Amino acid sequence: MSRSATGGGAYDVGVLVAGNWKMYKGPSETAAFLDAFDPPLGVDVVVCPPYVSLAVAVGRGVSVYAQNVHWSTEGAFTGEVSAEMLLELGVDGAIVGHSERRQHFGETDETVARRAEAALAAGLGVIACVGETGEERETGRTEAVLRRQLSVLPRHERLVIAYEPVWAIGTGRTATPEMAQDAHALITSIHPTRVLYGGSVKPDNAVELMAQPAVGGALVGGASLDPESFRAICAAALV
Ligand code: PEP
Repeated sequence: MSRSATGGGAYDVGVLVAGNWKMYKGPSETAAFLDAFDPPLGVDVVVCPPYVSLAVAVGRGVSVYAQNVHWSTEGAFTGEVSAEMLLELGVDGAIVGHSERRQHFGETDETVARRAEAALAAGLGVIACVGETGEERETGRTEAVLRRQLSVLPRHERLVIAYEPVWAIGTGRTATPEMAQDAHALITSIHPTRVLYGGSVKPDNAVELMAQPAVGGALVGGASLDPESFRAICAAALV
């Protein structure tokens, strides 16, 4: 796909499938994946490798997003990377607010918003993750949690939202297509943009999930690590 399709802001065309590789694949495995990966035409494909593998991934025919981005241009922020640094590398965008960042690294709605705003201001695309925990769903708080998380996110043509119920990430438990549709419809009623579904998307459930009218694509973790499996999910977006 062309970099402008996701980095440049047209979220109203086609379906977007992004692969979040988490802390997997150094530069050599990233190069091997992209050598083997043959994305289907007609779907916007993004890969999100670890920082050290971004340079290897750029210029290989798919869009490349980082898994996080800091809000400052530069400064004393050990371990962080700025939007300007990502742009210099040729990176198209960044994920912000992934639940693993919220759970394990103290990310809050406010820091997620700051990261998103800085990335957008610098010219990057953004995939902003929202989603409720299992306990929040069981106690009837899904809508309140989504409303709170969405309330701080900027509206921007380059911002895409990923609905990722925390209880479905890396667990093998997937939201039913109806649950995904309901959550996505709520999200788009609050924040009109393309909304990706994330949470144990696999080749065998991708068609049904992405067939839901409010589901505009997928954010895929584990199943994006294998080129064949990720290709199958990308192809499912076209069914
Ligand atoms: C993710 O990391 O965003 C994700 C959805 O992971 P998985 O597909 O493995 O549940």
